Amino acid sequence: MRKNIVAGNWKMNLGYEEGVSLFSEIVNMVKDEVIGNQEVVVCSPFIHLSSIAKLGASVPNVHIGAQNIHQAESGAYTGEVSASQVKSVGAQYVILGHSERRAYFGETDALLAEKLNAALKHGLKPIFCIGETKEERESGRFFDVIKTQLEAGVFHLGQDDFASVVLAYEPVWAIGTGLTASPEQAQEVHAFIRETIAQQYGAEVADATTILYGGSANPSNASTLFAQKDIDGGLIGGASLKSRDFLEIVKVFN
Ligand code: PGA
Repeated sequence: MRKNIVAGNWKMNLGYEEGVSLFSEIVNMVKDEVIGNQEVVVCSPFIHLSSIAKLGASVPNVHIGAQNIHQAESGAYTGEVSASQVKSVGAQYVILGHSERRAYFGETDALLAEKLNAALKHGLKPIFCIGETKEERESGRFFDVIKTQLEAGVFHLGQDDFASVVLAYEPVWAIGTGLTASPEQAQEVHAFIRETIAQQYGAEVADATTILYGGSANPSNASTLFAQKDIDGGLIGGASLKSRDFLEIVKVFN
């Protein structure tokens, strides 16, 4: 049975104290709600990671993650943070390939493949984001775009490494816009992603892969989205900054 995951992506928000206090609230609210096969992940800016890892350490199925890593082991890369450094503070996850990183920081599929390797080498589980822009959706090319992102960024992995990867389908036009993909639109792409994984790694691997939806998910639309057969949870931006909204989304799986 594949895992259901609700992951928060705080992006570049919250001062140190604000982040620690939001995380404490989240942990207190969700600790009895994360049931069975579910995990909650909070992906914070680097500044919070070490403190929230300590706060979350004793709570089963609540994990923390970073939002980026550098691909190199260590060295003269001023301002960057490596996979082993993120791992050393107690984080388990890292978001890779978010469309904001692709668009604003020029991250290519080839670079992301390197980052993916670095994460896996150091035991971080990647939440690897893929998704089309508005223009690619409207031109009908979105299946090709998604397939290429998978082939060029992820499919170099052997089956064992791939088993640690969580995928997130995030249509760029739905991120932070209030425009959510309809459950049918999202399901159509999730099914396509699972089928593409099956062609590469076989049906069993595809069936075990957690595929999250991201893009303006909130307490009102999460239940219809997560009810879709191939949607295994969400990567939540804006709504993860409000503990009550985040809790409501986590509780969809109860
Ligand atoms: P959003 O962001 O929920 O604010 O649309 C999702 C994401 O970018 O991961």
